[in-house]
Amino acid sequence: MDQSLSISQIINELGEDRELYFNAIAPPIIQTSNFAFKTVDELRTAFEDEMGGYLYSRGLNPTVDILRKKLAALDGAEDCLVFNNGAAAIFAGVMANVKAGDHIVSVVKPYTWAQRMFDVILPRFGVTTTYVDGTKIENWKQATQPNTTFFYLESPNSWDFLLQDISAVAQWAKSKNIITLIDNSYCSPLYQRPIELGIDLAMQTATKYISGHSDTLGGVLSGSNSMIKKIFDSEYLNIGSGIQPFNAWLLLRGLRTLPARFERISASTQKVLTFLKSHPRIEEVIFPLDPSFAQYELAKKQMLGACGLITIVMKAETRDEIVTFCEKLRHILMAVSWGGHESLAIPKCASLYPHQFDPGNREHKMIRLYVGLEDPEYLISDLSQALES
Ligand SMILES: *Cc1c(COP(=O)(O)O)cnc(C)c1O
Repeated sequence: MDQSLSISQIINELGEDRELYFNAIAPPIIQTSNFAFKTVDELRTAFEDEMGGYLYSRGLNPTVDILRKKLAALDGAEDCLVFNNGAAAIFAGVMANVKAGDHIVSVVKPYTWAQRMFDVILPRFGVTTTYVDGTKIENWKQATQPNTTFFYLESPNSWDFLLQDISAVAQWAKSKNIITLIDNSYCSPLYQRPIELGIDLAMQTATKYISGHSDTLGGVLSGSNSMIKKIFDSEYLNIGSGIQPFNAWLLLRGLRTLPARFERISASTQKVLTFLKSHPRIEEVIFPLDPSFAQYELAKKQMLGACGLITIVMKAETRDEIVTFCEKLRHILMAVSWGGHESLAIPKCASLYPHQFDPGNREHKMIRLYVGLEDPEYLISDLSQALES
């Protein structure tokens, strides 16, 4: 991809050829399963290389292609594939690059469905995984075995935002012929550019920030032409988890406003953060670009920004105090996911049985907030009244 393209040009122009569709500003949804051919030879060529043209929408589709070109360029990658959701992108990216007998090193506590794949699915095929505290490069080096072929990163993660030194891990992996994949969902390519830091495959869920409206799912996997072609020819076509044209169109629409939403959310996040940091009911506020964050220097070095997700550790002796806070919120909704217009809260204790709650465990008292597009004062007053109760 042409590195000189600006974000504005990528989002507003790249991949769009309006003369092909009546000069319509919004691209059409090419809602077709198959494409017709005039000659047997053209059909034969299409069978030979499905990535070379339009044959069947489980492979390539023109609406999806517009999105694909834009998302690859945003990642600074040669190419990308767009999946029906982020979990499918992770699955294809890992499955395409491991075989029986291989060993994976993963950052500890990766995204739920990545961990489920490592713990439940891959062992059935003779692939084992070691989890490491990813904050230190030595841990990656020590966990590397002769049969290690794959490193799985997630930086920052989406709960306590711990980081990996992306360049250092990528450099070590390269020296050992190990393929690297990072879950870049927290930052998106606007705030972190893993391919430029040496990572082979950059994954992000498009469900969150790219959609931006909580109305569709999607997932992106970016990398070199050869890596993406390999995944397309096997896992992408075989699993059949490519995004559908209508959902691709929704993501294109969301993408138009991504930079504007990021600006708004970044500014609001700072205001909410300032409020939370001074509140007596809150023990700790976790945010990667706050000077109190343990890896603040690394965050500043490798991230271009941070916004949206903030985790608070509540001062609480009982589970009830956390439950009351969450249930008293009037405008901030309690739901999984993030990246939409609506602000959200989710307590860690929702994944524990009540009797398991331990007030001495910092993690049990965590509540993750997502700052959406509402007026920040509206959010602060909601947080304030819920904290008072
Ligand atoms: C949501 C999420 C995913 C998975 O994306 P889906 O589109 O929901 O499948 C992966 N990683 C992180 C960090 C996420 O938050």
